[in-house]
Amino acid sequence: MNPVEKHAGKLFILSGPSGAGKGTICKALLAETDLELSVSMTTRNPRAGETEGESYYFVSKEEFLRKIDASGFLEYAEVYGNFYGTPKQPVIDKLSAGTDVILEIDMQGALKVKENYPDGVFIFILPPSMSELRKRLTGRGTETAEAIEMRLGETLKELSYIDKYDYCVVNGQLEEAVARVKAIVTAEHSRVTFTAEELISRYKEEA
Ligand code: 5GP
Repeated sequence: MNPVEKHAGKLFILSGPSGAGKGTICKALLAETDLELSVSMTTRNPRAGETEGESYYFVSKEEFLRKIDASGFLEYAEVYGNFYGTPKQPVIDKLSAGTDVILEIDMQGALKVKENYPDGVFIFILPPSMSELRKRLTGRGTETAEAIEMRLGETLKELSYIDKYDYCVVNGQLEEAVARVKAIVTAEHSRVTFTAEELISRYKEEA
């Protein structure tokens, strides 16, 4: 028996300006750790290469609104004209089964999760600079010049929420950023989350 064994999983929220690379970091984490991704629901159209149930659950606006009415989301937000939300039940099920869950969501959503689930670990992913962010958003080729300028303007506003977060990671070098997030996950599992009595009784059981 591990005397400080965890029973419930931890909820990690990876958030930050769009183009900071949270999606890429998240993919690497899923490949290299036991973290499980919460697959979001969205009303936006699938992009080339995206798959239903893996990238997102793609639904109509009507279906999304029905799920809001049924209190089916941990959080949801309207991002650039489309709805995005975190289905609540799968997250609760995974956490209670002892699995760590990662949410890769925008900042409005992260702030809502913080209100409802303050035990979450909030990680802010930052771009190394505004010029690098512009380059990344342009390189994606999925947005118009106007949309990119709008996202850059949003980024500056979003930086003001940094004090709501527990950690920040600058995504200059992908491997380094991934290593830092992994270190955060490890550190969070080393927190003292039990009383002295609980600890002593666990050691006594074994003695
Ligand atoms: P994209 O359309 O590029 O996939 O995502 C646009 C933005 O929506 C990104 O910042 C992404 O992190 C965010 N997003 C994705 N899923 C969710 C979600 O479930 N809730 C919220 N609030 N934002 C999300």
